[in-house]
Amino acid sequence: MSTAELFRDDAGWTVDWRELALCKAQTSLFFGPKAERPEARARREAKALRLCQVCPVRVPCQEFARSNREYGLWGGENEEDRHHAGFTVTAAVGVRSTRRDADTTR
Ligand code: SF4
Repeated sequence: MSTAELFRDDAGWTVDWRELALCKAQTSLFFGPKAERPEARARREAKALRLCQVCPVRVPCQEFARSNREYGLWGGENEEDRHHAGFTVTAAVGVRSTRRDADTTR
């Protein structure tokens, strides 16, 4: 665990910031399904953002997602927000693989 993953809580304890995450067990709220419609994504992300706004580890969460080029909503930011902040994900969201060995039977 790197020092960037540690966080000092209100009582002064140093903990992994993920232990204090308010979004535990709510993966579907922070990572959308394949082919999610824009309106559904906006509704889902609005709910997730309300949780992020009151989360005690928003800053380390946001820093983690930016430095690891994560997908999904982290620390109140989605991929587009991180892109505008200069932390672009490796592959754009919604772009199909162009690899020749990609499964084409779907
Ligand atoms: S800031 Fe948001 S995404 Fe990050 S741990 Fe808190 S609730 Fe989860």
